[in-house]
Amino acid sequence: MLERSNELTAWDRDHFFHPSTHMGMHARGESASRVIAGGEGVYITDIAGKRSLDAFAGLYCVNVGYGRQKIAEAIAEQAKNLAYYHAYVGHGTEASIRLSKMIIERAPEGMSRVYFGLSGSDANETNIKLIWYYNNVLGRPEKKKIISRWRGYHGSGVMTGSLTGLHLFHNAFDLPRAPILHTEAPYYFRRPDRTMSEEQFSQFCADKLEEMILAEGPDTIAAFIGEPILGTGGIVPPPKGYWQKIQAVLQKYDVLIVADEVVTGFGRLGTMFGCDHYGIKPDLITIAKGLTSAYAPLSGSIVSDKVWQVLVKGSDELGAIGHGWTYSAHPISAAAGIANLELIDELGIVENAGSTGAYFRAELQKAVGDHAHVGEVRGDGLMAAVEFVEDRDDRIFFDPGRKVGPQVAAALAERGVIGRAMPQGDILGFAPPLCLTREQADIVVNATQDAIRTVL
Ligand code: PLP
Repeated sequence: MLERSNELTAWDRDHFFHPSTHMGMHARGESASRVIAGGEGVYITDIAGKRSLDAFAGLYCVNVGYGRQKIAEAIAEQAKNLAYYHAYVGHGTEASIRLSKMIIERAPEGMSRVYFGLSGSDANETNIKLIWYYNNVLGRPEKKKIISRWRGYHGSGVMTGSLTGLHLFHNAFDLPRAPILHTEAPYYFRRPDRTMSEEQFSQFCADKLEEMILAEGPDTIAAFIGEPILGTGGIVPPPKGYWQKIQAVLQKYDVLIVADEVVTGFGRLGTMFGCDHYGIKPDLITIAKGLTSAYAPLSGSIVSDKVWQVLVKGSDELGAIGHGWTYSAHPISAAAGIANLELIDELGIVENAGSTGAYFRAELQKAVGDHAHVGEVRGDGLMAAVEFVEDRDDRIFFDPGRKVGPQVAAALAERGVIGRAMPQGDILGFAPPLCLTREQADIVVNATQDAIRTVL
């Protein structure tokens, strides 16, 4: 076993170009690397046989947990019967058609059709193209700019990397700045003025958005994109009244709203969609991760009836829409999606995310919330974050060389629990599988308390 592990690690360093990884350190063997070999429930096992409770569900995606036979069998059955057929010029498979019906039945009110892709990034690329097409069909060729938020995460393609409001994803890539703009992050903990209430800070964010729309010219602003709760940007729930105030501004200037539900879709906040949870009325919704619980790659752009009617008008005038991927609506992924959505219903996963999530966050708050270097414990549903500060009163960060989030994540991993040091700020994040039990939540909380005590 050890020999195999060493051999794989050597091949990995020599041949595998990893995403979001320090290239030099990895190739030189200076950073941690781990070969994962199996998974069952909320646990993964690495090639050396070490078992860990995965309190980040991979990358917040293995929502029903690992090792679900029902999904594995659905994938195998589909591969045996029909591994692939494309979805171009009106073709479909039983799996892709059935899944589209299941998604629309579960989606927020007013949603009409789903366009399938493979990743959250490509689904957001699709959204951008559909939004531009929509405004061209409506005879508004100037209305093309898209407003995203600092700390938003929407992918790492050419356009979606620009939408993403995290510096790591912009560094040295020369991504196009126009026609993407970034507005204020709804990050109450780091609000500019400590005396602001949540409602006042929400109004501040809405005012900043309106100022931007007016400065650019409302006739140039096509859409606003946001995650219902900021995910990769630090697991930051919106302050009270945020979405209502933001939506009022968007409606005033006829700006479409895209809810990026790649993380929140299919239960993470204790409702099927984050839009239901926060009262967002979207024109488009991005889905991925939880759609198949990552058993196979699949994403989607769900369009509202309002958008769909304009797209139909467009094709009546311009012909077929020139947009598609070879693997759009891949039948194996669709079969995984159907089995996954059935399992979510059978196991009561959405309700569990709500109730176990509330328990987990309350226990985490009790265990570490008063620590001298914990600035805030926050979250919603089964998403939680601990933000570290050098000074609790002034909310000052540790100096960058002493960032503690990665150290706590490493100490946690030694204790057999996986959390995530979030890429920007000094934040430890959790987004466990939605089938987490209270006993498993206790394991995560105790290990976190212990890890923080060891590091700080
Ligand atoms: N949108 C959100 C909210 C995400 O969190 C992610 C990935 O984490 C994406 C989009 C991009 O998805 P993918 O990595 O599948 O391209």
